Amino acid sequence: MALFVLSTLKKIEKNRFFFKKALKFSLLAALLLTETASKANWGFWAHRQINRLAIFRLPVQMQVFYKKYMDYLSENAVNPDRRRYAVIGEAERHFIDLDAYGDSALSALPPNWQAAVSKMGEDSLRKHGIVPWHIQLAALQLTTAFKDKSASRILCISADLGHYIADAHVPLHTTRNYNGQLTGQDGIHGLWESRLPELFGRNYDLWLGKVSYRNDIAADVWKAVEQSHVAMDSVLLFERQLSAGFKADKKYSFELRNNVLTRMHSREFSERYHRMLNGQVERRMRASV
Ligand SMILES: [Zn+2]
Repeated sequence: MALFVLSTLKKIEKNRFFFKKALKFSLLAALLLTETASKANWGFWAHRQINRLAIFRLPVQMQVFYKKYMDYLSENAVNPDRRRYAVIGEAERHFIDLDAYGDSALSALPPNWQAAVSKMGEDSLRKHGIVPWHIQLAALQLTTAFKDKSASRILCISADLGHYIADAHVPLHTTRNYNGQLTGQDGIHGLWESRLPELFGRNYDLWLGKVSYRNDIAADVWKAVEQSHVAMDSVLLFERQLSAGFKADKKYSFELRNNVLTRMHSREFSERYHRMLNGQVERRMRASV
């Protein structure tokens, strides 16, 4: 009997241990998830869609090849974010803090990398993000991969390039205040680029006609970054205006994500914010594609 009690007690203790561990783990997972949501770029859903839809805009001869690997290109659209904190030199490829260079950043920053390094120094450039230059580099690498007829490199670089181009179209990727952390708007990053597209993206019209051949990648990239930066003001302003009329318990709600209860912007808040932005997320997604 004593032995039975002892073993039962041991079992209970063991269960408590596991329960505690499980609780700790799920709390950690919840934290990680909110972390990920706030630091990731275009939500995973949007990145995958952008890469997939871009294939349909290619010239027919190229579509034959790319369509075969549609799933690969879509699934791997988020690779650069996955290795962001694991690979040195990766993080800075996703953004550019234009406000770090003052008001005339766009006219002061040389469009090409070598000129920019000579003028600003490489360390300073990397510190404030290099997305417009890295896209140009990736495009060059892609051309080389085509010349070498290396299918694996073509696919790998294409998946990455789609990601960086999409990131350059996100307004909050052009500012130091990337998550509203400097203006008391924490979490706005995930709201704009993950929550909104995930809730409303299915109604977006992302089917576009054929693209024309692009002669000047540097000019295109910098134009995209400029448009993102111009849009940034309304991203922050509308959230601030809307929040002023919302109580915290209405602004946020808890939803199950991968079986973890996660605090997110409520549907009502997201819907109202989305309406105020008046098609902005859709326009940036279309431009990314
Ligand atoms: Zn990214």
